[in-house]
Amino acid sequence: AKRPLLVGNWKMHGDGGDLAVIVAIGEAARRHPAVDVALCVPATLIDRARGVSGGLAIGGQDCHAEPNGAHTGDISASMLREAGASLVLLGHSERRHDHHEDDALIVAKLRAARAAGLEVVLCVGETAEDHAAGRSAQVVREQLTRSLAGMDGQGIAIAYEPVWAIGGDRTPDPAEVAAMAGLIRDTVSGIRALYGGSVTPDNGAALFEEGGVDGFLVGRQSLDAEAFTAILELM
Ligand code: 13P
Repeated sequence: AKRPLLVGNWKMHGDGGDLAVIVAIGEAARRHPAVDVALCVPATLIDRARGVSGGLAIGGQDCHAEPNGAHTGDISASMLREAGASLVLLGHSERRHDHHEDDALIVAKLRAARAAGLEVVLCVGETAEDHAAGRSAQVVREQLTRSLAGMDGQGIAIAYEPVWAIGGDRTPDPAEVAAMAGLIRDTVSGIRALYGGSVTPDNGAALFEEGGVDGFLVGRQSLDAEAFTAILELM
């Protein structure tokens, strides 16, 4: 069986006052060596997070497709790597929405990240409208095909994050998660399929076991070391 993977996504939260949370998550990760644990922090925190993480993998939340150039405000994959990141999130729905990222841009970023030696957690997921219309599988299959564009799954994990389940308190039924994990594994053999969207210590066990995923991508509950550790302990 594949090693479980638990990834926290701090989004635009966290500063130097939060390093103790990273220390505590690093300690929890060392107590659970059978699970791969990573924390994706704001770029401003990567270097300091690495300094206190005790080997916990630290990631970025986005990268530019070019290694360097005239792109004010952007950060390249090699810069993330040099700062101490070993992975990067790509294609998060907040990037797709806030920054109008499309699958073609995401595949360019994905190639850049892999070329820089970063592992990638690629996020896919349907909107509420697509979900209500019964189009979830079709939308996710299209996102996967377009944003992977023939790449093999080497160094990549896929997180199924339904847009409507992020940042609220609704999650899909574990059976829906299981169907999507199956679709992901059918599209890219050997890949780890994660679930993300309102994962908590309370709903985690059902999503993990009945959902049949290889791990989680966790937002809010990763800002709290105790809650994140409780999720880790379910895996
Ligand atoms: P929440 O866990 O806060 O719903 O966020 C999910 C997410 O978007 C993780 O990338």
